[in-house]
Amino acid sequence: SADVLTFGESMVALRGDGPLKLGGSMAVSVAGAESNVAIGLSRLGHGVRWTGAVGDDEAGELVLRTLRAEGVDVRGAGRDAGAPTGLLLFEPRLPEVTRVHYYRAGSAGSRLGPDAVERAFAAGPPPRVLHLTGITPALGPGPRAACERALRLAREHSVRVCLDVNFRSRLWSQEEAAAVIRDWIPYVHVLVASDDELPLCLPADGTPGEPAEQAGLLLGLGVREVVVKLGSRGATAYTRGGELHRPARAVRAVDAVGAGDAFVAGYLSALLDGADVAGRLERAVTTGAFAVASRGDWEGAPTRGELGMLGGGDGAVLR
Ligand code: ATP
Repeated sequence: SADVLTFGESMVALRGDGPLKLGGSMAVSVAGAESNVAIGLSRLGHGVRWTGAVGDDEAGELVLRTLRAEGVDVRGAGRDAGAPTGLLLFEPRLPEVTRVHYYRAGSAGSRLGPDAVERAFAAGPPPRVLHLTGITPALGPGPRAACERALRLAREHSVRVCLDVNFRSRLWSQEEAAAVIRDWIPYVHVLVASDDELPLCLPADGTPGEPAEQAGLLLGLGVREVVVKLGSRGATAYTRGGELHRPARAVRAVDAVGAGDAFVAGYLSALLDGADVAGRLERAVTTGAFAVASRGDWEGAPTRGELGMLGGGDGAVLR
């Protein structure tokens, strides 16, 4: 049985090394927030199932083959003969600025529906954790319904829910996102967000300005852990027991994309291991640092044995 169940849209990702309009070559890979988390968890030794949908095409084959190779269980994933696998292009424009271009409207992932989730829950014993992101409901009514079915099934089976808000302004407006995310909060145990995403999770009226106050309100609404990602400043977790900050780990940043997903994988991994909040944050900032120090969304995710590698000093050679 799987420790973690997740789903969402995974796509083929093409990554260039300069302005897109100049042409040149691109590297072919796979991207998707939930599958990034799935790979991160699998590398750390956890059982993970991903039940998204891809097209019945070679791009879909690449997505599934990659996840399978990373040890993610994709037996419940769907192949949609009526729609293509989505595509995205990463355009590194400046060292700190990567533009993303999506070709995902009408994709197989955007046609995911609640049936896939029903099947995933019916397939075996319930997972320990369900992981969703706020990207999926932005893809259309089907994916949104799939998430909402998953939230209900998780509650029915006493499965802990982790939600990464992951607001994507290219997919929907703040108002649209807030209208959905706010309703999901009562189902969420672990809420992961950037500080500027917290207001999307709270009732519209009277939202206070400070993250600590906003997190306090979310704890009052039943969330057990509010984990706020602060980029190179690290992260802060708010629980009933108080507030705990963990600075980021010092690494040379080469590619910030995927840091948030890697962070979530580390956090959930430590949670599954029974670590306390300090231990969860510690592993999360470590896996987040691995992601920013490596090119690609998930390629640099550490195995359990590699977790201690950070901080080895400049030019360390491990023999
Ligand atoms: P993305 O959407 O690109 O995946 P995000 O905005 O969701 O990123 P961030 O807050 O940028 O997430 O990063 C997540 C975590 O990764 C941070 O909390 C931090 O622990 C780690 N991290 C991010 N940037 C750096 C950095 N420059 N150096 C070290 N660690 C970092």
